[in-house]
Amino acid sequence: FTHLQDADRDLLRAIREEEGRQEAHIELIASENYASRAVMEAQGSQLTNKYAEGYPGKRYYGGCEFVDKVEALAIQRACDLFGADYANVQPHSGAQANAAAFMALVKPGDTILGMSLDHGGHLTHGAAPNFSGKYYHAVQYGLNVETGEIDYDEVERLAREHQPKLIIAGFSAYARVVDWRRFRAIADEVGAWLLVDMAHVAGLVAAGHYPSPLPHAHVVTTTTHKTLRGPRGGLILSSHADEALHKKLNSAVFPGQQGGPLMHVIAAKAVAFKEAMSQEFVQYQQRVIDNARAMAGVFMARGYDVVSGGTDDHLFLVSLIAQGVTGKDADAALGRAHITVNKNAVPNDPQSPFVTSGLRLGTPAVTTRGFGVEECESLAGWICDVLDVLAAGDDTTAIEQTVRDKAEALCRAHPVYA
Ligand code: PLP
Repeated sequence: FTHLQDADRDLLRAIREEEGRQEAHIELIASENYASRAVMEAQGSQLTNKYAEGYPGKRYYGGCEFVDKVEALAIQRACDLFGADYANVQPHSGAQANAAAFMALVKPGDTILGMSLDHGGHLTHGAAPNFSGKYYHAVQYGLNVETGEIDYDEVERLAREHQPKLIIAGFSAYARVVDWRRFRAIADEVGAWLLVDMAHVAGLVAAGHYPSPLPHAHVVTTTTHKTLRGPRGGLILSSHADEALHKKLNSAVFPGQQGGPLMHVIAAKAVAFKEAMSQEFVQYQQRVIDNARAMAGVFMARGYDVVSGGTDDHLFLVSLIAQGVTGKDADAALGRAHITVNKNAVPNDPQSPFVTSGLRLGTPAVTTRGFGVEECESLAGWICDVLDVLAAGDDTTAIEQTVRDKAEALCRAHPVYA
């Protein structure tokens, strides 16, 4: 940061503080990860200067011959990585990828069917405050509260009853394998498009450790920064052989939803896609799953309720209803102990969405910094130590300090950016 040091010390100080936080805190937010230095170099490059409205070979600006190469590489790699015939690498975020997919597939006022936010869906799957809940008639499905798993019969019943034009599968908080085939069968039965938002599991899918939705969905959207470990951004894919649909998707991204693409971010996406093709990445994703399973096992052994009884992916949900502990209090206490998690609603949650009775824990970031099963089991034990004190209604100051010391030592042993 030699230039920033001269140009803007205040800003640099904030960056340094965040850098310090990332090094010294254990990151268990399931949607976060640490991008490689190569990804960050591409994102910090001169490509940030270039306007390139349009698509490779068909731009509205001159001087695009080199950014065309960058975008073409990103598109080809995205297709190769996921076995897709079509890729749009321009969405600035996952939400914008979804907005573009909606724009291509349905009209305002049409009925859509997605997973509700409080059962693990995303805001963009039809939640009331989001565009998806405001501009469309959103019907929402959820989990079977007994099993903690998606209730496919309920999805089918709702689809028959409401005849949606679009069904959205995918999640922000679900620990099990989604039956993409079943979703497609339901969509076909009612003549709906199937959009799969695989944002959370894209890295696992790329590595072959989670079933790919590509053979089943008409359109697949994702972010590039979660398990996929790239820059913050969105991506749209399809292996549905439908040229007209691909054209509609392109027009929905630009000029439908966005202006100029962020070419520096697209370059960083291309780097991440290449990294995701490596054997190292495949092994990394297996460790992510192994670590999540190991942690969930510790919680259950310590008497905590893990929603759906375990995990098949990179995250799991702990329900604290039985302990009478709120997600908000648990999140705050763990934060003071240098363990970053997020409060999350759980099935049958008696608390409001801002308070909740659960925690969502994910292992992509800790696995990137080198934690294995042993470290993850210790970590889960420390979290339970804090939760036990909270559940007893006792003062957590001492346990927070003890856990913070152990968390910091573990972080020092596993630097993120050594
Ligand atoms: N889709 C899912 C399933 C997500 O979990 C998220 C983010 O958490 C998004 C979309 C939105 O991504 P972004 O934050 O990049 O807009």
